Amino acid sequence: MPELPEVETIKRGLESVIVGKTITDIEVLDSYMLNVPVEEFRNKLVGKRIEKVRRRGKYLIWELDDGSELVVHLRMTGQLRLDEGDYLRLIFHLNGTKLYFCDLRRMGEMWVVPKGRYEGIEGLATMGPEPLGEGFTLAYLMDVLKKKGGKIKAVLMDQSVVAGIGNIYASEILFEAGVHPERPAKSLTEKEIEDIYKAIKKVLNEALEAGGETFSNYVNIYGEVGNYQPRVYKREGEKCPRCGEIIINTTIGGRSSYFCPNCQR
Ligand SMILES: [Zn+2]
Repeated sequence: MPELPEVETIKRGLESVIVGKTITDIEVLDSYMLNVPVEEFRNKLVGKRIEKVRRRGKYLIWELDDGSELVVHLRMTGQLRLDEGDYLRLIFHLNGTKLYFCDLRRMGEMWVVPKGRYEGIEGLATMGPEPLGEGFTLAYLMDVLKKKGGKIKAVLMDQSVVAGIGNIYASEILFEAGVHPERPAKSLTEKEIEDIYKAIKKVLNEALEAGGETFSNYVNIYGEVGNYQPRVYKREGEKCPRCGEIIINTTIGGRSSYFCPNCQR
């Protein structure tokens, strides 16, 4: 699933290409992703100019010139791209530019809402702070981890705690911080929380600089994969790059979790 670095990379690509363009037509080949009927979706969007593109967590938000917003969540396999990929589901026509929405697993979602009205989009309405933004402080993380039950890896993936972190980067962040993914969040020392806080910023910034990951079906708007090289994610059976111990995979909260049993305590 695209996480913060991937969705931010897509957002930056969209920003450079679609802002200022008008949605001249929308071809809906498959309507599972729409939270309104097809005709209503088209009526609300066709003829509107895109004024701004934003990202919030894993959501993409297009601000339109009539005060409404198109909100897109790519979920597991959604893609927004300028070249026609496989599993094409919908096409935005933007003043002669075509933007293709492709989605292998058919789980992506789109909403049209008045600006900032996210009550009907539960994940967006309850979204926690942006980890690379000013609102995400060490004091906030210490406070929220003291109150949260559950294992640290699941807590990091809880979008109401911090926005945009999923399975890949939660694994990489905990490796960077040297913290075992099954540790109860409440058991962490202040030093460990500080290490996790620094690791969140470091890992997400590195992944963003690399243009996102390279081992799922994620692509940027030009159909290109990223260059981020994970150190533990999907490296089960390989040697830990720090200590040489074998990386293992265990299931936490229903998700595969990769870690070094020697470096992560
Ligand atoms: Zn190790």
